[in-house]
Amino acid sequence: MTKNHTQIQGQWHPHLWPPFTQIKTASPPQRVVKGNGALLFLEDATPLIDAISSWWVTLHGHANAKIAEAISSQANQLEQVIFADFTHPQAERLAKRLSDHTGLERLFFSDNGSTAVEVAIKIAYQWWQNRMEPRKQLIAFEGAYHGDTFGAMAVGARNLFNETFEEMLFPVARAPWPSTWWGDKDIEAREKMALSTLERLLQTPTAAVILEPLLQGAGGMSIVRAEFLQKVEALIRQAGALLIADEVLTGFGRSGSLFAFQRAGIKPDLIALSKGLTGGFLPMGVTMAREEMFLGFIGEDPKLTLWHGHSFTANPLGCAAANASLDLLEEHPEQYQDFESRHLTHLKILAKHKLVQKPRLLGTIAAFELAAKGPKSYLNIEGKRLKSIAMREGVFLRPLGNVIYLLPPLCLSDSQLEKCYTALTKGLEEISI
Ligand SMILES: *Cc1c(COP(=O)(O)O)cnc(C)c1O
Repeated sequence: MTKNHTQIQGQWHPHLWPPFTQIKTASPPQRVVKGNGALLFLEDATPLIDAISSWWVTLHGHANAKIAEAISSQANQLEQVIFADFTHPQAERLAKRLSDHTGLERLFFSDNGSTAVEVAIKIAYQWWQNRMEPRKQLIAFEGAYHGDTFGAMAVGARNLFNETFEEMLFPVARAPWPSTWWGDKDIEAREKMALSTLERLLQTPTAAVILEPLLQGAGGMSIVRAEFLQKVEALIRQAGALLIADEVLTGFGRSGSLFAFQRAGIKPDLIALSKGLTGGFLPMGVTMAREEMFLGFIGEDPKLTLWHGHSFTANPLGCAAANASLDLLEEHPEQYQDFESRHLTHLKILAKHKLVQKPRLLGTIAAFELAAKGPKSYLNIEGKRLKSIAMREGVFLRPLGNVIYLLPPLCLSDSQLEKCYTALTKGLEEISI
């Protein structure tokens, strides 16, 4: 007998509406009461390794004492102030430091990854208008994910998550994303095809090209080579378009270098950052821009202004958390620089399993595809099975369909990393039977 709607709803909180969840088919959430380092603790004290950094945000670990302390002392000093008419020391310090790290001089604050992308798009589009050389076209890559607000949805790949709104999304030209993996034999041919499509699209006057440097996250942890991105950049420069790097996921060490554009050897005009920005403690986004972009918005005519802002722009608590998180990254760069080699030993062994396809690795992120029955989409069943087996083993995963990945916090110990791979191995073995 199928359960009726009330029975199903009864297992869920009567007043919460969860994100990305069809409660008719999903299992109800478990209650988390504490976090510490790489661990989450359930109500009954069961520890779980947070192998995906709570949707990719938790950078140094849960309840990191230094970040917690920075937020607490800032809260006692100044919790919030309107960021027009006023500025404050934490925001100024953060802007200077991120500018030094990225080489992009200007920082614009917003609230999350989607808004950081929205702002980048608005700056790029308006910059051309302000120059009296309006360019309308935006180019993005197939499989991209840039967030859930309308502009961010528009540049993202069209799929189940946004098809309802298709008619409301502005048009975006799209080039293929030639992702690669261990043992990939015809990557050069795929890159060539992608580049020729991009070159053709760039013949139409283009305001900007937006991409996730080196790794598309939500699109399936798919990695491209640095060589490819360097050629993409050359084409963009040739066409005089702007390059927007969405580093909402890849920023702050995730890719093995502080920012993925650095590892890729490219130089964007605009960069969107969020997720790890505050160490994962508070929601905040920033858009970094080259000085030349900023100068394009200055003049007597009010129309030149970037008319954008949020109530919580440059929230001092978020800035304090971000500064404390940057302190940690600057003190221990080896934590993100060495993560790839820690994964490597384990992934090499796991990759031999017959259900493991397209293994790949970038910095702190290891991924593969589960060769399994059913659709490869987000709704893949075998991925869900692997998730529940791992959970039983004390490891929290959240596969993207048949794409299984680890994206743990930097504080993950060697034995915790081993536990993650053991859980994956057990999962693969049970699924193969
Ligand atoms: C998560 C993500 C976003 C959206 O960030 P939110 O904070 O969830 O709005 C944008 N771009 C990329 C690459 C992301 O991974």
